[in-house]
Amino acid sequence: MKFFIKTFGCIQNTADSERIKAFYWNKGYKEVDNWKEANLVIINTCIIRESAANRVYGLINEIDKWNKDKDRNKIYDLEFKNKTKNIEIIVTGCLSGLANKDKSGKKMAQLKRDFPEVSEFLPIEKISFKIDPIRDKKKIALIPISFGCSNFCSYCIVPFARGTEISRPMEDILKEIDGVIKNGFKEVLLIGQNVNSYGADLKPSPACGGTSLDREAVSIVHMGKKRFHSSFHILLEEVAKKDLGKISFVSSNPWDFSDELIEIIAKYPNIDRLLHLPFQAGDDEVLKKMNRGYTSDEYLALVKKIRSQIKDVRFSTDIIIGFPGENEKAFQNTVKLCKKAKFEIAYLNKYSPRKGTVSAKLYKDEIPQSEKKRRWKILNELINKK
Ligand code: SF4
Repeated sequence: MKFFIKTFGCIQNTADSERIKAFYWNKGYKEVDNWKEANLVIINTCIIRESAANRVYGLINEIDKWNKDKDRNKIYDLEFKNKTKNIEIIVTGCLSGLANKDKSGKKMAQLKRDFPEVSEFLPIEKISFKIDPIRDKKKIALIPISFGCSNFCSYCIVPFARGTEISRPMEDILKEIDGVIKNGFKEVLLIGQNVNSYGADLKPSPACGGTSLDREAVSIVHMGKKRFHSSFHILLEEVAKKDLGKISFVSSNPWDFSDELIEIIAKYPNIDRLLHLPFQAGDDEVLKKMNRGYTSDEYLALVKKIRSQIKDVRFSTDIIIGFPGENEKAFQNTVKLCKKAKFEIAYLNKYSPRKGTVSAKLYKDEIPQSEKKRRWKILNELINKK
């Protein structure tokens, strides 16, 4: 029995796929590089952007067409000697997550009607963190530290597709890292939708930065909002003490970037100096509509504080272009912020509404594509082509 896995989307999905592979290897399947050779195709989906969602639908259709093509065996068996049955399709990741999380069952019923060719919508939670992943990247070990997100940025589907944040116990993460070091890895990438709030969902204990079981007692005010204590800086320090040449982490919401975290990064030279700090928009009205929890001045103050304490720090960022309400003045505020923050790289995404999100419900996608393209070019020239 052979399986093929196709991964769409972010680094979190890449890390999940390494565990999914191990799950099927343990069941006795072998991985192949061409889906036409497989008995089982697993599609790890992303629906954050329209283009990613369309590619998922495209692949499902292509496999279905192949399954229905009566002449295929004659041509294909010569090449792969695969006495064929139909290829089974399993869908996991955000597309199935969104339906699995809907308690009414309506979304799952709809999904099954939309994709009758899919035999299983696998909840990613079924793939345990206890499984030893089959690592694709040979130099950098991907280490998930949390799953889901509790921030509910208005444009983002992640809290609905993956649920609110669940942090992995620190001991498990450190044990996995000891294992990869034993296997010769010198670099690790800690992964979470928002690594900075790691541990905020765990019961506060001395091990995760708290001294009380009362969550209120360990909450802090950060950027004008009350937040539960994160223990990311504690985890990061434990990792930095190990025999590793480089430790990086993604992704960071500026909202939870604490002073303690800055101190730890400054203290350990093996923590990557290229920090990914998505700001998304430089206009306060737009940021408010995005529910990002900070203003442009607060973001810039954070960048300044980090620069003053960490030698050689560089920044990369994410920007959403053409969010509803981003008029020319608002866009110019984004340009101004970019000039002040001096990013090394920016990942530029043209806004497109995702069904089920707050922004898709409340705001009209009013900026024309041509205008989004024009703004994309301006920012690309300013940051990525300088
Ligand atoms: S921080 Fe915001 S954009 Fe990032 S995963 Fe969470 S909700 Fe989505």
